Amino acid sequence: ASDAAEHDLVIIGGGVAGYVAAIKAGQEGLKTACIEKRGTLGGTCLNVGCIPSKSLLNNSHLYHQILHDTKKRGIEVGDVKLNLAQMLKAKDQSVEGLTKGVEFLLKKNGVDYIKGAGSFVDANTVKVDLLDGGEQTIRGKNILIATGSEATPFPGLNIDEKRIITSTGALALQEVPKKMIVIGGGIIGLEMASVWSRLGAEVTVVEFLGQIGGPGMDAEIAKQAQKILAKQGIKFKTGTKVVKGDDSGALVSLNVEAAKGGKEETLDADVVLVAIGRRPYTEGLGLENIGIDKDDRGRLVIDQEYRTKVPHIRVVGDVTFGPMLAHKAEEEAVAAIEYIKKGHGHVNYAAIPSVMYTHPEVAWVGQNEAEVKASGVKYNVGSFPFSANSRAKTNLDTEGVVKFIADAETDRILGVHIIGPGAGEMIAEATLAIEYGASSEDVARTCHAHPTLSEAFKEAAMATYSKPIHF
Ligand code: FAD
Ligand code: NAD
Repeated sequence: ASDAAEHDLVIIGGGVAGYVAAIKAGQEGLKTACIEKRGTLGGTCLNVGCIPSKSLLNNSHLYHQILHDTKKRGIEVGDVKLNLAQMLKAKDQSVEGLTKGVEFLLKKNGVDYIKGAGSFVDANTVKVDLLDGGEQTIRGKNILIATGSEATPFPGLNIDEKRIITSTGALALQEVPKKMIVIGGGIIGLEMASVWSRLGAEVTVVEFLGQIGGPGMDAEIAKQAQKILAKQGIKFKTGTKVVKGDDSGALVSLNVEAAKGGKEETLDADVVLVAIGRRPYTEGLGLENIGIDKDDRGRLVIDQEYRTKVPHIRVVGDVTFGPMLAHKAEEEAVAAIEYIKKGHGHVNYAAIPSVMYTHPEVAWVGQNEAEVKASGVKYNVGSFPFSANSRAKTNLDTEGVVKFIADAETDRILGVHIIGPGAGEMIAEATLAIEYGASSEDVARTCHAHPTLSEAFKEAAMATYSKPIHF
């Protein structure tokens, strides 16, 4: 791209939101540039989020299973050893393959990929500090901000990504810590607690609320998750807040107390993971030069068509409203390009699934029971335990339950909450059902293959308006 070149669309940020928008825009024939300062595409998700965490979750689960769950299956194993360096290498290879794949897709779709940090000069002009040195200025008829999010720091604890870490450090620890404290029992906290606990660390999760799982998880499911994870060896301190931390000694020490006040104690650990949420990232973006608004949580304010108050500047992904999820960012990216190209686009925010990739997995879509209750709608709950599902039984993997919530009057599905093996794949069926406005009876009368875990899903639907067969 030459300096003078005017693009139809300039995208700032090459994360899931930015790169998906770039590909879609390329497909739609828009002359597009995508600016990314990380050096690789894919953003948080591919580089230090979804992908590396799932690599470590998968392989640490295998390791843990080989150590603790083979005998009763008739498999005798010999000397099992952890090769952490190799496990980290396998993770890095997955990340590298995928980020390079994205770069190929941008090229294939004719997108100019510009490596550097972008900042607004004016409402149509972005200056890029190139990673290789020097500067480039590009102009866009449309500009899409997709700069994502960053870990929220904990006041008083200095992140060095070695002893006091965010998820980024937790994906790259070079040895298994003896003791690890996780501040925040949300999705990041629980996924990373699972990885390091399986690999041998003594892990304590300190959660401010009375319930783990972060926002959205159904209380009943969260309770089961906590019980199962505790059985796997993770210690929990819920209803507990960290008052202050001290990293000057050989161990990091944290003062914690009951969230409602009172009982104080000191915990110490080799490594402390700060996982108290993420916040929008707009540093160095030069927003002051274009005067667009942020809300009180730093999110860029947009309308239904992803437009800021400067209408040709749009925003998608973690840096604006909604759940900070890769698939949400992806949906918005496609919709934003459709708005630019065709004037209409659509994301159904009522049907965005959430998955926690622990074992068993936890997954949900739609409203949880507390939300339905608060809405005043009369509802029915149907549930089915995996312990009564034939496939779960043959797999010797029976922990968990499927829970349906449906409108008592119309039977329309309002929410589905699963804890169990394969929950993350199974939730796609619930999402489709909600997207199509299905009733629980629609699902229950749909033939499901036997023997599969998805029969538990069907029978939970059946239990919502009638009785399940196998329980
Ligand atoms: P990001 O992925 O953060 O991308 C923004 C990009 O913009 C970055 O690469 C950044 O370098 C770049 N950038 C910022 N400012 C500039 C600038 N001025 N110039 C140029 N470039 C700039 N979500 C899921 O759905 N499933 C999961 O399993 C999952 N696991 C996760 C695990 C972890 C440990 C973490 C931290 C997150 C996880 N997430 C997961 C959340 C997911 O990563 C985010 O929702 C997703 O990455 C958001 O995409 P985005 O493009 O909006 O932002
Ligand atoms: P989160 O908001 O999901 O959870 C943070 C937790 O920390 C909450 O339970 C909160 O009550 C607790 N907390 C906050 N302040 C605290 C304090 N001072 N002391 C103790 N506890 C405190 O945030 P996260 O887990 O950091 O994840 C960030 C984002 O990344 C989320 O939006 C999440 O959806 C996304 N993510 C998704 C996945 C996935 O989809 N599998 C995986 C990782 C991250």
